Amino acid sequence: MLLDTIAAISTPRGEGGISIVRMSGQDSLNILEKIFKPKNKKVSELKNYSINYGHIIDNEHIIDEVLVSIMKAPNTYTREDIIEINCHGGYLVTEKVLEVVLKNGARIAEIGEFTKRAFLNGRIDLTQAEAVIDVIHGKTEKSLSLSLNQLRGDLRDKIATIKKSVLDLAAHINVVLDYPEEGIDDPVPENLVDNLKKASAEIKDLVSSYDKGKIIKDGIKTAIIGKPNVGKSSILNSLLREDRAIVTHIPGTTRDIIEEVININGIPLLLVDTAGIRNTDDIVENIGVEKSKELINSADLILYVIDTSREIDEEDFRIYDIINTDKVIGILNKIDIKQNIDLSKFSKVEKWIEISALSKIGIDNLENEIYKYIMNENVEDSSQKLVITNVRHKSALEKTNEALLNIIETIDMGMPMDLMAVDIKDALDSLSEVTGEISSEDLLDHIFSNFCVGK
Ligand code: GDP
Repeated sequence: MLLDTIAAISTPRGEGGISIVRMSGQDSLNILEKIFKPKNKKVSELKNYSINYGHIIDNEHIIDEVLVSIMKAPNTYTREDIIEINCHGGYLVTEKVLEVVLKNGARIAEIGEFTKRAFLNGRIDLTQAEAVIDVIHGKTEKSLSLSLNQLRGDLRDKIATIKKSVLDLAAHINVVLDYPEEGIDDPVPENLVDNLKKASAEIKDLVSSYDKGKIIKDGIKTAIIGKPNVGKSSILNSLLREDRAIVTHIPGTTRDIIEEVININGIPLLLVDTAGIRNTDDIVENIGVEKSKELINSADLILYVIDTSREIDEEDFRIYDIINTDKVIGILNKIDIKQNIDLSKFSKVEKWIEISALSKIGIDNLENEIYKYIMNENVEDSSQKLVITNVRHKSALEKTNEALLNIIETIDMGMPMDLMAVDIKDALDSLSEVTGEISSEDLLDHIFSNFCVGK
């Protein structure tokens, strides 16, 4: 596919060691010829996959001293000719280099357009393109490793195997229908049926891996709640291991909701420290209370905090009563000055963990318990297994499995083969949706609009 030549600054804006202006398309080398003076050579003499010293010029005017990488199609990121100009990393100088490139025939690239070309030109499928953005956004090693597996093509390959089992069945049916003497009444060969059943089981595994995949990729939203002064901000700080939330003696100082991400054994935990939830005339505080209720509703996990140095009171229960889920870990804080308290009325809390946020006692244990909680709820360790992290893949695969189960049922019940045609088509179509062989312009726009400029 021949497309026009695009260009963009591919490195973050601002001052830095170097910046890269990238070009992709059939005119890249022609444009380079007009704007680049390599030392002691002509552009036409530059070798493929070489890095070349020289100057970017605009009408004999030196714009910058640069290194230029030449990568000719087809073995490039986009499968097109790609030129990368390493300029000095200043805001203005990089802009000027881009300007010269554009003036000489390139067009400014849309967000994600380089990767979109890699997809349109068949170098990667849609799952790999989606993995590119996940790699860029990856916050923990675990999520990065899932994205890298997907980028490598693990999901694409799995889809291809599943697709093959459906295509094998389709081929068999075609032969039988075209040549009835081959045995139209014979049962579908066992190995074909086995492959379909295996494919269906694999899809089921993939679909059920989504909840875990989503947590690894996006994190688990965790709200720290409890009445004012029990130590919520201090707990947030000890988990963050830095002083981010303001800790004071006056009840209710954490008025705004503070959001932080911490990494617990590779799982991003999105911690929100709520303002003290209490009935009060203070308007600011009331807004906080409402926000807290919302947060509890949207949280995947709640850390409910009690101050063990004081008697449990009504206010503790008022907050406890808002909790509308069993996804709660109880925290008994201030054990450095604790007294005996009665926990028998907190039936929603299965597990209590003793800590002192101030003296940093029990913080590691708290982290471990949070991790165990997340893992038990969602996963056995499955670093080796294929995991999906994208809801688009999940819903397409659910459609595939529905179709596969229909096919298997039709076979098991010995019904005529031509009854399977619609389900076979549905299965193949939904698989093609995952890999992007079938895709709409809207879907592509949606996916690539999440990219960065120059990627
Ligand atoms: P929040 O209102 O629930 O966010 O509570 P803060 O984190 O602001 O803490 C309220 C007060 O309790 C502060 O003076 C903290 O220093 C103190 N505090 C927090 N955790 C502990 C602890 O484990 N032991 C003791 N002795 N004091 C603590």
